[in-house]
Amino acid sequence: MAVSWTPHRFSGGALVLDVTNTVVLRGDPRSFDRFDDSAELARFAEAASVHRAAELGGRRLAVADALAAAPKVLAIRETADSLFRDAASDGSLDTDRLAPLLSACAIGLDGDGGRVGHPARAFGDPAAPIALETAVAVSALSLLSPEKRGRIRICANCRWLFLDESRNRSRVWCDMAVCGNRRKAQRHYRRRQSAKEHDHA
Ligand SMILES: [Zn+2]
Repeated sequence: MAVSWTPHRFSGGALVLDVTNTVVLRGDPRSFDRFDDSAELARFAEAASVHRAAELGGRRLAVADALAAAPKVLAIRETADSLFRDAASDGSLDTDRLAPLLSACAIGLDGDGGRVGHPARAFGDPAAPIALETAVAVSALSLLSPEKRGRIRICANCRWLFLDESRNRSRVWCDMAVCGNRRKAQRHYRRRQSAKEHDHA
């Protein structure tokens, strides 16, 4: 079934974290991968071009050949998840996790032939689209700065990774409207249950 790439699926705050979050319930037996069908890469790229337009400086993402792009994107996704999930505890980087991410990013950047990292347009000239794997690599590398990586969090409800850009760095949920409310509803339900048990005691 085709994935509906809703705004909630872009709660990561950075393209690379939205990509890591395409594995749902990572580490759980109910886990599933929204990129199982490589055709989803192009649909993700189209939605991310809109929802991540600010980060991308308006440059659109392109997937010319999904079968060729998939292994590159998935390699960055898995190594980025490993590194940044670990870094979320105190912002430091495990070199055994950093090296594989850098290798995966090198492959994502290879052959691009463009320029990135300009202060005003980090992802390059928006006149032409950028390959998804190249953009994901640029996004991952941008999170290595101490300022950014110190803001990486794990959602207390769904375990997605997200960038906490709040001033006091106090965000707990990837998306308050979804995960925050789900947790509130659970707490409310448990309170009612324990009140009921009390009544019957
Ligand atoms: Zn969440």
